[in-house]
Amino acid sequence: MRIAPIIENSPFARIARVVLKSRSVAMVLGGTIHLSGATKEEFMRDPRWVAHEMCHIRQYQQYGRVGFLRRYLRDWLRYGYYNIPFEAEARLAGDQEAHLYANGRPVPSRAHSHKGAGEA
Ligand SMILES: [Zn+2]
Repeated sequence: MRIAPIIENSPFARIARVVLKSRSVAMVLGGTIHLSGATKEEFMRDPRWVAHEMCHIRQYQQYGRVGFLRRYLRDWLRYGYYNIPFEAEARLAGDQEAHLYANGRPVPSRAHSHKGAGEA
């Protein structure tokens, strides 16, 4: 499976990390996956996490740069982070599509995946 471009040590992902109080964060901006607190290798080793972010890439492609961000932020304020529809869809993708990014290896359980990938 082809993966979107990845930027490590992203200042934008660092801000999200602080806001979400998370050890590591991946976020999609402009069709690119931004990482903070995790290397590209660590990210790529977690197929559930990759599937989650690739779902956000599709949402971004569907709604466009402004449309995606506007909906995301509006729904965050309206429903809270966990219940953002884009996040619910990406969590489902993390479960259902992880095998596409596992390179033939078994998909680790949610407990052994990044916290944001399949759960909260
Ligand atoms: Zn997400």
